[in-house]
Amino acid sequence: MKQYFFAPVFMLAAISAITQESSILSQQEKGAILYMREEEKLARDVYNFLFDKWEVNPFGNIRHSEQVHMDRMKTLIEAYKLEDPVTKNNDKQGIFTDTILQKYYTELSGAGSVSLTGALKAGAKIEELDIKDLDERIKQTKQQGIIEVYSYLRMASENHLRAFVRRLKMQDINYEPVILSKEEFDKIIQSEHNRGSGMRWN
Ligand code: ZN
Ligand code: ZN
Repeated sequence: MKQYFFAPVFMLAAISAITQESSILSQQEKGAILYMREEEKLARDVYNFLFDKWEVNPFGNIRHSEQVHMDRMKTLIEAYKLEDPVTKNNDKQGIFTDTILQKYYTELSGAGSVSLTGALKAGAKIEELDIKDLDERIKQTKQQGIIEVYSYLRMASENHLRAFVRRLKMQDINYEPVILSKEEFDKIIQSEHNRGSGMRWN
């Protein structure tokens, strides 16, 4: 546990070092930060909704880790003095500035309402989406502080994806990827639980 408390301190140090350099970000890099902030909200809000509906894990546990991810993205927004799309909507459950993410919320909360299996599949799909979107955005920046945050979120998403796939297996469902390639998906599922640099598994 002790290591866990050290990790955010390193992260904050990395972020404060770049606070003065916000003008060097491209529009694409700025847009990516705003998008990922809301994509983490998508995960948290869908899991909140599905936990209320089904009252089972991993939704209960993972929604808290999505809040941590939202907070990480908020730190980047503040470091680069961007306008927070979540604050703009008073962080209202299920409300998004980005229209694509708004559509995803409607689609995934709807699919997750039909059955527990549908809910677990919606969870796995969100984590696949998160991994794909993070991979794209990691390639679009050279800012070390941003890459560190994205890489942390990506590691957590791999853990979450494995958790949903395991839970589906308990329902005798073999989850097949709907966003990632089969190859990439298999690599993630077969790899060990990723603890990263002393971080807790969220
Ligand atoms: Zn996340
Ligand atoms: Zn997640």
